[in-house]
Amino acid sequence: MSRPTVGVVGLGTMGAQVLWQLALRGVRATGFETYAPGHARGAAGGETRLFRNFELDDLGYAPVVRRADELWEILQRESGRPLRTKTGVLVMGSPGHRQMRTALRSAEMSGLPYVVYDEDELARRHPEFDVDPGDIGLWDPRGGAIRPELTVAAAADMARRRGATVHTDARVQGIESRRGRVVVVTESGEQVFDRVVVAAGGWTPGLIPALAPTLMVRRLTSAWYFGRKPDYLDSIVPFIRTVPTYCYGLPVPDRTAMKVGLGFENHLAVDDPDTVPRVLRPEELAPFTAMVERYLPGLQRHPMRTETYIETYTEDRHEWIGELRELPGVIALAGFSGHGFKMCPAIGEIGAELAIDGATTLDIGFLRGGTPPTQDAVARGAASAYPVKPTTPGR
Ligand SMILES: Cc1cc2nc3c(=O)[nH]c(=O)nc-3n(C[C@H](O)[C@H](O)[C@H](O)COP(=O)(O)OP(=O)(O)OC[C@H]3O[C@@H](n4cnc5c(N)ncnc54)[C@H](O)[C@@H]3O)c2cc1C
Repeated sequence: MSRPTVGVVGLGTMGAQVLWQLALRGVRATGFETYAPGHARGAAGGETRLFRNFELDDLGYAPVVRRADELWEILQRESGRPLRTKTGVLVMGSPGHRQMRTALRSAEMSGLPYVVYDEDELARRHPEFDVDPGDIGLWDPRGGAIRPELTVAAAADMARRRGATVHTDARVQGIESRRGRVVVVTESGEQVFDRVVVAAGGWTPGLIPALAPTLMVRRLTSAWYFGRKPDYLDSIVPFIRTVPTYCYGLPVPDRTAMKVGLGFENHLAVDDPDTVPRVLRPEELAPFTAMVERYLPGLQRHPMRTETYIETYTEDRHEWIGELRELPGVIALAGFSGHGFKMCPAIGEIGAELAIDGATTLDIGFLRGGTPPTQDAVARGAASAYPVKPTTPGR
């Protein structure tokens, strides 16, 4: 059977990866992006994202992150760009809390190197952080920082160089299933495909009303702080604190400032991502100030910069991935719930496989959506663009 033609709507974090994976497989793929790949108005802005190997919530993600890790290496090598830097990531929090217990279990099962620090050791090794009494640290030496805008731009560029078509400044106005094919409508007219993958981030509910009840669109703020002393950030590492004191931070690449982010409760609900206020009200900074003063005492109290981005959540924080019953031939990738970037190369592969075969190599049955039955991972992997390495379950 000949390969389907595939349209990809949204060339942000996930769409650019889907386009690259389709192009790798020799599929005739066409991407549509309202702006241009690498812009910072959606979910992929702020120069850094955490890559961590250990799960805080659902161990089902572990194989997806493992696969992403393999593909990050390939993406970085083939793009020739510094997309991911393995600085290590420090997970901190109470050992009695569910998220930290899951992280420890995830580390144990991973077969990857890790170190657990008790409170004293944590203070000795990472004196830049204050912690709560009894907190522990889980050091993930193979974790690190990803550059989101550069990754998106690089993936789209690699797809284009392998033959994909990239339409920039091309907002998709509608998607329709007609007589077994899918029509994509833009200002310039209609284009018809065998399948369409929609990866429109915060704009998904507007484009696919059937998903609106499932998706919650939120405005996420990042705040950048200078250190009080010039050397405070010299050896600070990217970190994440587990709930109930959830927050995370990454030094900027030249270590002159630290970016800090908060959890879901602090994100403003978004009606329309095109008109959401991007400038913060002063009172919105209060939870940042509280976290910084409590856990990062060497940072200045006032941020030197704040930015807002748009992300889509689901109720249980599990992605919606699959073909839409309401729109046959249309596959949606949505609801990445604040943790999608590290997995994006693997999600791109999943999206491409769903578009071509209607099934995936990795088991994504634990996610939401119309996920098809999984096939034998190793056998299917041998047929993919970059074979999936066999893994030892339970390691
Ligand atoms: C501040 C912040 C910090 C985060 N930190 C981390 C982290 O440390 N680690 C991690 O793993 N994850 C993190 N995440 C989550 C991760 O960044 C997201 O899960 C991921 O970027 C979501 O990708 P997406 O493709 O769904 O959306 P996007 O990247 O926003 O892509 C959607 C694209 O679709 C385009 N589009 C929309 N509508 C249309 C249309 N009609 N026609 C054409 N194009 C359209 C948009 O312009 C956009 O480019 C963070 C997210 C945010 C916002």
